[in-house]
Amino acid sequence: MAAPTTAKVRIAARLRPRLPGEAPDDAVHVVHGESSCGSTSTFSGNASGSGENTSGASGSYISVANPRDASQIFRFPITSCYDADATQAEIFNADVRPLVDVARGGVTVTIFAYGVTSSGKTHTMQGTPADPGVIPRVVQALFAPSSQKDEKTEVAVSYIEIYKDDVYDLLVARENAPKLPVRENDAGAVFVAGLATAPVGSAAEFDKVYSTATARRSVGATLLNRASSRSHAVLTLTLRITTATAVREGKINLVDLAGSENNKLTGNDPSRMAESSAINKSLSVLGQVVHALNTGASRIPYRNAKLTRILQDALGGSSVGLLICNLAPGAKFRQDTLNTLNFAVRTK
Ligand code: ADP
Ligand code: MG
Repeated sequence: MAAPTTAKVRIAARLRPRLPGEAPDDAVHVVHGESSCGSTSTFSGNASGSGENTSGASGSYISVANPRDASQIFRFPITSCYDADATQAEIFNADVRPLVDVARGGVTVTIFAYGVTSSGKTHTMQGTPADPGVIPRVVQALFAPSSQKDEKTEVAVSYIEIYKDDVYDLLVARENAPKLPVRENDAGAVFVAGLATAPVGSAAEFDKVYSTATARRSVGATLLNRASSRSHAVLTLTLRITTATAVREGKINLVDLAGSENNKLTGNDPSRMAESSAINKSLSVLGQVVHALNTGASRIPYRNAKLTRILQDALGGSSVGLLICNLAPGAKFRQDTLNTLNFAVRTK
């Protein structure tokens, strides 16, 4: 199998700023351009090559220092790196807007936020009303007047949560929302049976549906006695673009993944362990799937986790994606940061 010339799933990394109360240290650096690359640098075992040469950010890398040994610096070549002062708008314009345009052309695109709890996944995907992230910006772009000029865009929303490999519908009140089965139709397409879909006619309408659904994620978490960061949230926008001559259907999946921290270390509560193993497994299968797609492998292990099974159509064929690896600065997160960056470079 020949490797494709461009990655189907682009890998980006974003370092979040230090939060109030976090110790000021600088274990993680984002460096743009190779010129400042020091001779003490060592590549991580899994980081090979300099990555594909795509837009603007080529040659960027993230270096992770060892606070106990200044000579030990791990460098990870990642084409799309965002420093702690990168804005939501910058990320949207550089890496997300092009995918919205692809989806409007009738293709399925998927954007993931990967990283440990508190690394900035939800900030990146959802953001705050004052500093909106990927999701509200995608919706704004879809309903922008310029998008409506010669074509009509219809948007329908579905929103699921995957917890311990079970699927729940966030558009339905949790008391009335049993686990949904994942099925395959005769044509081999995978779908969540009984999933609700809500048509939305404007960004304001979307906000209403989305905020109600998001609140359910924490209700579900409470009912199941766990933290909402232990589940994957998959928001799907189905687009129907009607022009004078044609109708196109596209799809945008926006995925806030469960925290990637390895919880094997925390206690021995059997329920927590089952939770951790489901998360570890689904994230490692996701990494294998993305890697298989990016290297043109003939067998893609979609079936090994619900997350990838549900996204099978979104990740195969002509579909494209973006995996944003969120990083927390600081020595406390150093091992997590190395794990996340190893995950990122292994998927290329
Ligand atoms: P996660 O979803 O990965 O657990 P969050 O998105 O909740 O992490 O981020 C953890 C904290 O850091 C939150 O208080 C969030 O507002 C803040 N934060 C994360 N990224 C940024 C950023 N780029 N700029 C400002 N604050 C951020
Ligand atoms: Mg979160």
